Amino acid sequence: MNIAFHSATDIIDILEKAGHEAYFVGGSVRDHLMGRSLGDIDIATSATPDQIQALFSKTVDVGAAHGTIIVVTEKDSFEVTTYRTDGTYTDNRRPDEVVFVKSLTEDLKRRDFTMNAIAMNKKGDILDPFHGKVDIERKVIRTVGEPSERFHEDALRMFRALRFCSQLGFAIDKETFLAIKKHAALMGNVSIERKTVEMEKLLLGKSMNLSVPSLIDTGLFKYLPLLKDKGEELGSLSSFPFHRLTSRIQLWTAFAYLLKIPDLEDFLNSWKLPKKVSKSVIMNITTMNHFMDEGWNRELIYYSGIEACLQSHEILLLLGMDKPTNRETIQKIDEALPIRGIKDIVANGNDLVQWRDQKRGKWISELLHDLEKNILNDLVQNEAGAIKEWVRSWQQK
Ligand code: ATP
Ligand code: MG
Repeated sequence: MNIAFHSATDIIDILEKAGHEAYFVGGSVRDHLMGRSLGDIDIATSATPDQIQALFSKTVDVGAAHGTIIVVTEKDSFEVTTYRTDGTYTDNRRPDEVVFVKSLTEDLKRRDFTMNAIAMNKKGDILDPFHGKVDIERKVIRTVGEPSERFHEDALRMFRALRFCSQLGFAIDKETFLAIKKHAALMGNVSIERKTVEMEKLLLGKSMNLSVPSLIDTGLFKYLPLLKDKGEELGSLSSFPFHRLTSRIQLWTAFAYLLKIPDLEDFLNSWKLPKKVSKSVIMNITTMNHFMDEGWNRELIYYSGIEACLQSHEILLLLGMDKPTNRETIQKIDEALPIRGIKDIVANGNDLVQWRDQKRGKWISELLHDLEKNILNDLVQNEAGAIKEWVRSWQQK
């Protein structure tokens, strides 16, 4: 068995010794069967959340009402979830209630796809009531049960099918695919936060070239924030290697850039991205646009900052719009900057008032910005004598 399961085996042992059932479930079992490296290891158990908490010294209650407790071990932490079925659904997104059950099969039945509904015991034996293993071998994504019904329960599953297609390179079973096409509009009922998580995973998948056409073909894209009119631009995403990007900021930069989004702030807000991420994305795209017009130069590197320039450069490289040697060019220009911000100018407001013998006013910031540009372009030295002389002769526009 994959070595990554070893530390989680102790948790299963403890649950079993206390008279409960416990199995590895979900993505880790799927990935193990595929020989992929494992993400989070999840455990399903017949023990109730109270019983789980009583058995382990360190736990975090992340959703006891839904049956999920995180068990923290010395090296790791694992989600341990009580067997449950989801009650009725009325809003295409969340069950009205969850019901804890005693049967593993019942728990597997509520899971989205056959490949995600496989359990494995601590010895590595597989329990696979919905024939997920065959689907993995055939590289097929198929809902557990009738697809339309499952998508009415939780419409996000349609989008998840596409993101798994992107991550695993699997095809979507015909019936499942047709149901997505038919019920795409149900995605309108899903929260933005859940869509954002899946969108990021979809973009980072190695087989995005398979899932993007499906995103368009099923019409699912129309129910994603501000993508309704972007069918054509979405097509251009497939050829871009998002999986080679190294940060969330780069991912959204490349995404928004390729989609030719006119109002970036509005777009990024509509995906509910943190302000810090949006700000950096906007800075990166502004930098890329300037680069296209004027190449890497002092002003661009100064005003955008080295980080935005290097991030943008990496994306431009992948787009075939910049050359590798320019990384060094950017770094060299940055190192040679005479100042890194207005605060580095060796004169302050008081000096200016004194040197010009002029009352404080709006002119100070105007002058400082002019001075900044002049110093940046080596027209004035950042040195008190030279600045004083320049300040005295400065003409307000
Ligand atoms: P990843 O490797 O990306 O984490 P995963 O399969 O582990 O993939 P998760 O979103 O972490 O996916 O969910 C864990 C498991 O919970 C899934 O494998 C699936 O069994 C179940 N699951 C998650 N979301 C849903 C859903 N919306 N409907 C039904 N089952 C779900
Ligand atoms: Mg997971």
